[in-house]
Amino acid sequence: MTSSFAPMPDAEGFFGPYGGQIVPPVLKQVMDDIGRAYAEITRREDFQQELAGLLADYVGRPSPIFHARRLSERLGGAQIHLKREDLNHTGAHKINHCLGEALLAKFMGKKKVIAETGAGQHGVALATACALVGIPCEIHMGQVDIEKEHPNVTKMRILGCRLVAVTRGAATLKEAVDSAFEEYLSNPQDYFYAIGSVVGPHPFPMMVRDFQSVIGREARQQFMERHGRLPDYACACVGGGSNAMGLFTAFLGDAEVRLVGVEPAGEGTDRPGRHAATLSMGKPGQIHGMKCYVLENAQGEPDVVHSIASGLDYPGVGPQHSYLKDVGRVRYDTVTDQECLDAFMTLSRVEGIIPALESAHAVAWAMRTAPTLPRDGHILVNLSGRGDKDADYVAQVLDL
Ligand SMILES: *Cc1c(COP(=O)(O)O)cnc(C)c1O
Repeated sequence: MTSSFAPMPDAEGFFGPYGGQIVPPVLKQVMDDIGRAYAEITRREDFQQELAGLLADYVGRPSPIFHARRLSERLGGAQIHLKREDLNHTGAHKINHCLGEALLAKFMGKKKVIAETGAGQHGVALATACALVGIPCEIHMGQVDIEKEHPNVTKMRILGCRLVAVTRGAATLKEAVDSAFEEYLSNPQDYFYAIGSVVGPHPFPMMVRDFQSVIGREARQQFMERHGRLPDYACACVGGGSNAMGLFTAFLGDAEVRLVGVEPAGEGTDRPGRHAATLSMGKPGQIHGMKCYVLENAQGEPDVVHSIASGLDYPGVGPQHSYLKDVGRVRYDTVTDQECLDAFMTLSRVEGIIPALESAHAVAWAMRTAPTLPRDGHILVNLSGRGDKDADYVAQVLDL
């Protein structure tokens, strides 16, 4: 497992100038302990075997690659291939790192796993992994979000996690983060904080990336076996950036594979506060214990952001993405809410696959790009999740 991991970050958790640990000294100690335990435990045979077994028999890996023939045909250009993370148990890529984190917490002897959740996707994936691994789970969620996200709230309760309703302030994601973090800091020796993307202080961006990199390892091998070559493009949507790093990591050394991260342009990148295109429109700064690109307001605070896909509306982004942008290895492009909706409907009607609104951003980019490429060109799209969660909302917006 360890041998196939990319060499980044450095010992201090930096990807070039990004990443690191912008945290108080007590927390630095705790993060360093997690980093050491992570290195030791993930090297162990029993850990690797248990994780590999669960990824196969529980998550259902490897996820297939589907050649979207009808979609490609209709667009009249390059062939579009979908890495089907939507077929994983719980319906998205998040289970890959939640399982890794829950198992790591168990091997570390932790007594409780804590996290916040916004729309509830991370909460459900983590509650699932904790139920499986047999470790108590506590999810903090804003009262406003609890009222909005009923199916996910119900699932978390069924899965047996303790749901903490946060009523302070605006009672949404930011307050949930604060609340979860306070609980964590009350006993960091016994608790494990499970971060939901490749963000936060070192070692989290590295750990989450490593647990997600199974996506790209599988995809590279599957594509090679079927086509005897690698794709011309590999693309994925970027919120915090975990599904994209999961796909990209295996291809970083393949110069012929162009990598594209797709950010949400929302209602337009010319409208501050109405998009969440952090790498495309932001600048280097810091947020949530790390240095990375950030969207800031005039006061230098993290800006309000928007995307039709709630999993993509984050004003920061993973430090490795920030680095990969600066060195030019990955290109970051944007897709609007409208283009996302068009791709959501087209993929549903032409291929019978309802994608998550997040994933539909990557599909939209492929749909825009395929016609500009020859028919023997290949675009690999990471279909990060399924769209069941978005179906009612889309039907309402489009008056279906
Ligand atoms: C949460 C989520 C995302 C965004 O998270 P990343 O860390 O950027 O991958 C994308 N797709 C789906 C289906 C999600 O649930």
